[in-house]
Amino acid sequence: MINESMYQLGSKPSCIRELFMYGLKQAAIVGKENVYDFSIGNPSVPAPQAVTDAFRAITAQEDTLAIHSYTPAGGAPDARAAVAADLAARTDTPVRAENVFFTCGAAPALVSVLRALAVENSEVIAITPYFPEYRPFVECSGSKFVPVPADMENFQINFAEMEKRITANTQAVIVNSPNNPSGAVYSLETLQTLAKLLTAKSQEYGHPIYVIADEPYRELVYDDAYVHYIPAIYPNTVICYSYSKVFSLPGERIGYFFIPDCVEDSARLFAAAAGAARIMGHVCAPSLQQQVVRACATVKPDLTEYDRNRTLLYEALTEYGYTCVKPQGAFYLFVKAPKGTAKEFSDRAKQENLLIVPGDDFGCPEYFRASTCVSNDMIRRSLPVFKKLIEEV
Ligand code: PLP
Repeated sequence: MINESMYQLGSKPSCIRELFMYGLKQAAIVGKENVYDFSIGNPSVPAPQAVTDAFRAITAQEDTLAIHSYTPAGGAPDARAAVAADLAARTDTPVRAENVFFTCGAAPALVSVLRALAVENSEVIAITPYFPEYRPFVECSGSKFVPVPADMENFQINFAEMEKRITANTQAVIVNSPNNPSGAVYSLETLQTLAKLLTAKSQEYGHPIYVIADEPYRELVYDDAYVHYIPAIYPNTVICYSYSKVFSLPGERIGYFFIPDCVEDSARLFAAAAGAARIMGHVCAPSLQQQVVRACATVKPDLTEYDRNRTLLYEALTEYGYTCVKPQGAFYLFVKAPKGTAKEFSDRAKQENLLIVPGDDFGCPEYFRASTCVSNDMIRRSLPVFKKLIEEV
C-alpha cells in the first residue's frame, strides 16, 4: 500500500512547475525568444562575485576531505558562528552560534519548525496570499492549515480577520515578509499590532503562539523599505532563512533555522526542530555550501537589475490599466486579473505564450503572479502581449 497524500503531492506538479515545464516545451517549438515566461522564482542575476570566488577558493583547497566531510548535524561550528556574528551585527542583539541550524534551504527549515510545533489538534495560520508550499508543509506536519486574508489594499495583515481565526489550538503564524507573491514588506506598525494581538491571545490561551518568520527575501527590498527584526518586536519568533534568492543559489540548497534565546522554551524547541530535521534526513546540510556561507555571511546582493525589472513591469502594467500594488520587496508582481478568474486569464495568456501564474494556489484566485526575476529584454518584448490581453477585456 502507498501513502495516498504523498502520492497526490508527488504525482501532480505545482501549478508553477507545470507552467514552467510547459514554457520549456513551447520554447522548443516556437523558439525561446517567443515565450514570455514569468512563472518561476529562479533568480535571474548571477551569484555575487564574492560567492563565486568563495566556491572557487574552497574547492581549490588540497584537503578535499575537509571540504566534503559530514559536519555536525546543525552545521560546522565556524559557519554557524559566521551566521550568528552577522545576525548579531545587523540586529544589535547577542546571537549564539548554537541557536543556528543549517538546512537545505528555507523549505526544510520551515518543515522542521512546523513538525516541532505539531501537537494534537494544532493549527497554523498563514496570511493570504501565501507561498503555496505552506499548505502541504503544515498539513503533512500534522497541523491544520488556517489561511487568513490579508488587507488587499496593501497586502499588510488584516487583523480583524486574523483575530477571528486564532483559537486555543493556534500554535503558530507564518509571516513572510518580503512576501512571495505580493512583494509586501510588513511595516513596523503591522508587526507591533501583530505582537500585541499574539501576546494577548497567548495569555488568553495559556501557551505561546509562535511566529515563524519565513525570510528568504530578507535582503531583496527596494526604495526605503526596511525589514524589521521580528524577535525584537515579538520575542516568540523563529527565523527560517535561505541563501537561494539572496546569493542566487537555489539549486545549492542552503539555509538555516534560527531560534533566538528570547523564544519561550527555546532550547526544547530547537532540539525538537533538530529532531524533525533528523527524521527527514536533513541533518548536515551540504558542507561546501556551509563554507561558502562562512566566507560570505556579510555579502549583500546587487539589486539594480531586479529593481529595474520591477519598475518596468509595474509601470507598464498599471499604465495599461492593470491593478497592482507596487511591490516593496522580493521579485514578483501580484496583479488583479482584469476580468473573470486569474485561471481564465492565465489560460488566455498561455495561448500567446505569456506564462503567468494564476493565484489559486496562493489562496487568491482573482490575482496572477508575474516573476520579475527574468531578463529585462524579455519583459520589454512581452509588453505588447500584456497590452493586447487587457484591451481584449
Ligand atoms: N518560502 C518562500 C516564501 C519562498 O518563495 C520559497 C522559494 O521560492 C521558499 C520558502 C523555499 O526556499 P528554498 O529554496 O530556500 O527552500
